[in-house]
Amino acid sequence: MYLYNTATHKREEFVPNEPGKVSIYTCGPTVYHYAHIGNLRTYIMEDILDRYMRYVGYDVTRVMNITDVGHLSSDGDTGEDKMLKGAKREKKTVMEIAKYYTDCFFADCEKLNIRRPDIIDPATACIDDFIRVIEALIEKGFAYEAGGNIYFDTSKLSAYYIFNDFTSEDLAVGVREGVEEDSNKRNKADFVLWFTKSKFEDQELKWNSPWGIGYPGWHIECSCIAMKHLGERLDIHCGGIDNAFPHHTNEIAQSEAYLGHKWCNYWMHVLHLNTDSGKMSKSKGEFLTVSLLESKGYDPLAYRFFCLGSHYRRSLVFSFENLDNAVVSYNKLIARIAALKVVEGEEIDQDALDALKAKFREALDNDLNTSLAITALYNVLKSSTNTATKRAAIKDFDTVLALNLLNAADALAKQKAEEAAKAAVRTYSDDPEIRAIEEAIDARAAAKKAKNYAEADRIRQELLEKGIVLTDTSSGTTWAKKA
Ligand code: AMP
Ligand code: ZN
Repeated sequence: MYLYNTATHKREEFVPNEPGKVSIYTCGPTVYHYAHIGNLRTYIMEDILDRYMRYVGYDVTRVMNITDVGHLSSDGDTGEDKMLKGAKREKKTVMEIAKYYTDCFFADCEKLNIRRPDIIDPATACIDDFIRVIEALIEKGFAYEAGGNIYFDTSKLSAYYIFNDFTSEDLAVGVREGVEEDSNKRNKADFVLWFTKSKFEDQELKWNSPWGIGYPGWHIECSCIAMKHLGERLDIHCGGIDNAFPHHTNEIAQSEAYLGHKWCNYWMHVLHLNTDSGKMSKSKGEFLTVSLLESKGYDPLAYRFFCLGSHYRRSLVFSFENLDNAVVSYNKLIARIAALKVVEGEEIDQDALDALKAKFREALDNDLNTSLAITALYNVLKSSTNTATKRAAIKDFDTVLALNLLNAADALAKQKAEEAAKAAVRTYSDDPEIRAIEEAIDARAAAKKAKNYAEADRIRQELLEKGIVLTDTSSGTTWAKKA
């Protein structure tokens, strides 16, 4: 399997640290608001990675943090804690909004068939781990105290900007527009590991530490939570592309400084979901949620299908027109699966199934090319193999795609069959005279079906004597009054 590695800027063959096992760390949501569908694009594409690793047989352990403290309005350590901002907005406590939005996040994930990570750990539950690692960083000379805060000293590293070819001038937080310079920092790129002094005194959650009462910086949280559950060598770390700098860059700096060796082998970054006016973002205040899509009548899985139609390393433009097109395609796909004639006792053609599966794997082995995987799915429907084999392939692919394909198709087929049965039920006229004729016609048809031709003729004769003439046509028997 080949994966694009943002750290090396190359597509690389995936080789895990331990044969047969894969450890994956995912930056979790900052739970001060609902996740928007841009955030969820990232989690859908990471879910494909997780599911595909399991599909090919790896024993996967996936860990996700919940950011419930320390993520400031600017990723560069300035501004207000996002959680506090959310709590003030809703006049609730930080822990109340953390719980509420964490639950909402996982409810959205469930609707989108995003697997729950094996381990989920909120930052506020790991304070001791952060303190321990920060102490070690100070001891090793990688961190310093200034103005009451603890900073990571980026000048101690031989390489800091891992993910891109920008210069430190381009990226240094201190020179970015709208971000105040922190005069405590020895180097512009240095970042906070532990805050004791900040501009706002009303930080709700604070803990004792060797450096005074305070709270952790956002970056140290992910390093520590990943190491706590997945050890010193991580296979894959994922996140949205905005996390590459400074968040992931800082994670690498502090983790490798702490460990004294390479930490994570592969970095997967999902490109953004954009709208016409740019990146969808929570802080802009106006954003689209799964609930909003549902309230407009969209099936969340149609949004998943929309996301799978493009590669994770391309930014994706969201518009309702684009989503509508995806809905049409998704519904057509389900209808085509529903139309497959299921034959009782039909056997799966194993060779044909293996060939279809090989195409599916080829697509996903190629840096998780989900749109080619969807093409492989259409090719199943087009193939000349029998229904049992097609259904087996669809079921198999759907363990990764997670589009509810067979369930939705079977529900549609059932609904169609019920509608057809309803349409086939004979309805009689309200006029008792006409109803008697219609019932006699049905009785004659039943007699004919039972090969009781004498009875059928008797009924025809009886009607004739009442002045009713029957005519048998290919679509049934019609009647008329004798002229
Ligand atoms: P946050 O809750 O802001 O910490 O973000 C959660 C995840 O969503 C992170 O992995 C971000 O990189 C990612 N993300 C943020 N905005 C977008 C977007 N517009 N499109 C895709 N992913 C995003
Ligand atoms: Zn993170």
